[in-house]
Amino acid sequence: MAASPPHYAFETTPEAGHYLQITPTIYWLRMPLPIALNHINLWLLEEQDGFTVVDTGWASEQTISIWEQIQVRLFKQKPIKRVIVTHMHPDHVGLAGWLTDVYQAPLCMSRAEFLNCHLLLNYTHEKPPTEALQFYQAAGYDEVQLQKYRAHFGQFGQYVRHISHSYQRLRNEQVLKLNGSTWRVVIGEGHSPEHVCLFNEQDNIFIAGDQLLPTISSNVSVWPTEPEANPLEDWLKSCKHLQTLLNDQTLVLPSHGRPFYGATSRLQALIEESETNLAALADFCHEPRRAVDTFSVLFNSPITSSNLMMATGESVAHLHCLRERGLIQETYDKGVTYWQRRPS
Ligand SMILES: [Zn+2]
Repeated sequence: MAASPPHYAFETTPEAGHYLQITPTIYWLRMPLPIALNHINLWLLEEQDGFTVVDTGWASEQTISIWEQIQVRLFKQKPIKRVIVTHMHPDHVGLAGWLTDVYQAPLCMSRAEFLNCHLLLNYTHEKPPTEALQFYQAAGYDEVQLQKYRAHFGQFGQYVRHISHSYQRLRNEQVLKLNGSTWRVVIGEGHSPEHVCLFNEQDNIFIAGDQLLPTISSNVSVWPTEPEANPLEDWLKSCKHLQTLLNDQTLVLPSHGRPFYGATSRLQALIEESETNLAALADFCHEPRRAVDTFSVLFNSPITSSNLMMATGESVAHLHCLRERGLIQETYDKGVTYWQRRPS
């Protein structure tokens, strides 16, 4: 594997709740998260008359109070002019509605992220649809696991305050003027439906969101809303596209971890890791396997009730990728899907 340790761009890292000015017009703000991944990086781009915020943090009283402290220090003279959200996961979009309300600022997102966010918010306090239960049953969940899924369904709204009912759409290749510089919207796929990254070609700075992270690999999952999706192939295509845009001198600003250099080698390592996992999984399917049987092949750490859904989504994503490549096929028995290598 071509993996080399990331070359971090800065000696220091802001504590959760603090920010660091990393260029004359870009601030790195770190917000705490109440999950194993304990932080998210947000970016503040400073202009003559205000700031553009990229991502917002998880909806919680703690995050709101940090925003309020920053308001005293930064936004009194220069308010937030626009809120860009890279994608609809709660750590990114959680306080978007709160910020756009407080500052009367527009919300800027890609269309699929905006619509999906509203879809998931609408599930709040609802019961899971039958199709969703069938999806996890097909993956091999037992009754206890299905019961846990039922109990946890609809929680998205707990971590996302709300978002506005209208937005400004960001499209692939769109050019934005932010902090006096030109930024190009680069859409990535696989981790979320239409993930926005921002590339400043002149300064060679890339705001990556979750599309390119220095040490962990982004979750790439199939979800019950689109049960036949092949997000892993989409993800690999996006990684290859980014390899054509970025180079090892690009300053990558990721949502988790630290800013780093070495984008092309990191992307290559991520591609190779996926291909290695796919090859091992194809090998493992020499006899019929359910999605839940494949965890030991794909993950180094144990799968517990807290990461079961993510692991299931990732397993199904790998299985679908192999199916679309013509390497495995599925059969069904009593609502459960079994995957096996195609006879060669
Ligand atoms: Zn994400």
